[in-house]
Amino acid sequence: MSFNTDRIWDVIVIGGGPSGMMAAGRAAERGLSVLLLEKNKSLGDKLNITGGGRCNITNAEMDRNALLKNYGDAKDFLFSPFSQFGVKDTFSFFESRGLPLIIEARKRAFPASQKAVDVTKVMERYIADGRVTVKKGVKITNITTNKKIILSANTSSDKFKARYFILATGGLSRPETGSTGDGFSWLRELKHTVDVPSPDIVPISVEDKWVKDLSGITMSFMKISFYLDGVKQFSKTGEILFTHFGLSGPLIMNSAKDIKKVLRAGTITALIDAYPDTDQSALEKHIIKVFNNNKNKNLKNILDEITPLGTGEAIFSLLTIPLETKTHSVTKEQRKQIVHLLKALPLTVTGLMGFDRAVVSDGGVDLKEIDTKTMKSRLIDNLYITGDLLNISRPSGGFSLQLCWTTGFVAGNSIPIG
Ligand SMILES: Cc1cc2nc3c(=O)[nH]c(=O)nc-3n(C[C@H](O)[C@H](O)[C@H](O)COP(=O)(O)OP(=O)(O)OC[C@H]3O[C@@H](n4cnc5c(N)ncnc54)[C@H](O)[C@@H]3O)c2cc1C
Repeated sequence: MSFNTDRIWDVIVIGGGPSGMMAAGRAAERGLSVLLLEKNKSLGDKLNITGGGRCNITNAEMDRNALLKNYGDAKDFLFSPFSQFGVKDTFSFFESRGLPLIIEARKRAFPASQKAVDVTKVMERYIADGRVTVKKGVKITNITTNKKIILSANTSSDKFKARYFILATGGLSRPETGSTGDGFSWLRELKHTVDVPSPDIVPISVEDKWVKDLSGITMSFMKISFYLDGVKQFSKTGEILFTHFGLSGPLIMNSAKDIKKVLRAGTITALIDAYPDTDQSALEKHIIKVFNNNKNKNLKNILDEITPLGTGEAIFSLLTIPLETKTHSVTKEQRKQIVHLLKALPLTVTGLMGFDRAVVSDGGVDLKEIDTKTMKSRLIDNLYITGDLLNISRPSGGFSLQLCWTTGFVAGNSIPIG
């Protein structure tokens, strides 16, 4: 289909992720002519894999001040945007469009259908209702400016022109979904300050074989304590997922930022307490009871009764007690070794995994260069910036997508009409 690239649109949105779709839909709803450019063949490729395919769409913390505490230093900046489009607005936006939300542990909200693709469908309908023109498979390679304003967004063959531009090209996590950091380079060329992005909410790699041997196993309740050169730094309690490279799961991913800071200072080791609610003597009593009840069995056959489900063989690989030992032959000394190990499983952190496994990367445009009420660049008069391009750190739990709905809405809502 031929496409008139001479047309001057009211708004061009570059990037069809959640923040770009929200921005395009809102601008169009206000009567503006909108062109949405997306380099992939489909919109919302990253959105479709969020929350393990279930999409943790927002966090149902309805108290705005409490919610904003999750955004660290950006909380003051976000006060105005969140008063324009907050969590309640996200709920009514999706529920009024036929996508009821449910709330799970830690106030994480998901579509009741448990399908991230349903969220993308709502957004696609929203932009279709507003008659946004969508061009997929269009990779913007550079932008033309006269230093004060953007004149066009260009591919290798075409120039797309508009009065206003919304940049929504995302960060660097999971580059295979299209987020390859293109927006960061253009913003630097426009003299914006862009902090170097690095993986932020991300799994960690460890060197220990016993951890890798447990790949795919979850320890549903444990406490992990991190040490720098033997000095305890911090602990976290909750669920942990073992992988073929190390440790993952929300608890670990949300600790990555702190681990990153400490890693710069030296070697990080960690100890996992597999029974944080049970002290050493109570654990030993439990093990004695299990042994007494199974006097003639091999250790191998009662592992799941004394270690978290599925972890026994890997944990015992750290000891020199053969698994063929009959429980009645385990010495007191050996029993104490087992107890000690279960309360302090050792591992050494080698680093954080890369962008390919990150949920969120930090870095992005300095908020001092963005107008808090509109998401407009303070340096370029016709540019608005949304979503993961902004330098705002936050934990997992729906806070990233809420940021996209909010900043996308505010940008689309702020483009002057006429
Ligand atoms: C595995 C995973 C799970 C996640 N789960 C959750 C979750 O459950 N809840 C939550 O709150 N957050 C989650 N996140 C984070 C969330 O997905 C992001 O914060 C969000 O997608 C950012 O949206 P965005 O609109 O800023 O950019 P993106 O979603 O990154 O979209 C940017 C779009 O711009 C396009 N683009 C880039 N460059 C160009 C170009 N040159 N020309 C044209 N188009 C271009 C890309 O193809 C892409 O479609 C998850 C992230 C990952 C990776």
